[in-house]
Amino acid sequence: MRLDRGKRKSVWAQRMSLNKKIIQRRISSISNWLILLLFLCFLLLGCSQTDDVVKVENNESHRVENDESEATKEPIDKQIESEVKAFEPIFQGETSKKKIALTFDDGPHPIHTSEVLQLLNQYDAKATFFMLGSQVEEYPHIAAQVAASGHEIGNHTWSHKKLTTLSEKEAIDEISLGVMAIEDAIGYQPTHFRPPFGERNANVDQLVGMPSILWTIDTRDWDTRNPESIFQIVKNNANNGQIVLMHDIYDTTVEALDLILKYLTLEGYQFVTISELIK
Ligand SMILES: [Zn+2]
Repeated sequence: MRLDRGKRKSVWAQRMSLNKKIIQRRISSISNWLILLLFLCFLLLGCSQTDDVVKVENNESHRVENDESEATKEPIDKQIESEVKAFEPIFQGETSKKKIALTFDDGPHPIHTSEVLQLLNQYDAKATFFMLGSQVEEYPHIAAQVAASGHEIGNHTWSHKKLTTLSEKEAIDEISLGVMAIEDAIGYQPTHFRPPFGERNANVDQLVGMPSILWTIDTRDWDTRNPESIFQIVKNNANNGQIVLMHDIYDTTVEALDLILKYLTLEGYQFVTISELIK
């Protein structure tokens, strides 16, 4: 399977640059249409002001045309909005229900990921793991175990480089190698993406071709390595639709997770995957 990764990578590179080109062309053609329509509106308005007779005689038809332009303009505005919005990062999900998404980055880890799985299972909780392709290649059976337990796996690139500092080709390699390693381990491509360090820009967003999943609660577990502090951060900020950032590569995060699951379960929260939270 690994032998043809070079070939698959170049297919990916083509697909991702093509994806970017298509989006850019679509946005520019929509903008052109919008400019043309605005120009037509301007012309029509100009005519109606300079020729009173025409205005009276054709008042009805002008009104209809203007109405049509307005009607057409609005969906086009919305189209542009949705084109741009389709790649905007997501920080949280819908807030009407008591749902929270726990996310674990930088794994899979040979020891701690399985411990996290055990705890999640104990509380009937589902979570999302943003895995590094290089780690998945090392521990494919753990990635497979995560997927088989009903959790979600997202792409966190191949080796955790800051995508905004890379060339387009390097960024494509990082993103596509992550996808491929996950696909090789679990049998399907991940549908979510989280940029390393949360670092992204419009160029990266368009290459990825899906919204980046960021977070609302940063536990700073990598920094403090203190279960009580990690727990307190979640406890003090927990709310409907929040996305919690953790890392399944530290024993201290596993300890904190036990406290978090216990407390939030008593508070009535349901732990769901990113797909479930943002659907
Ligand atoms: Zn990370």
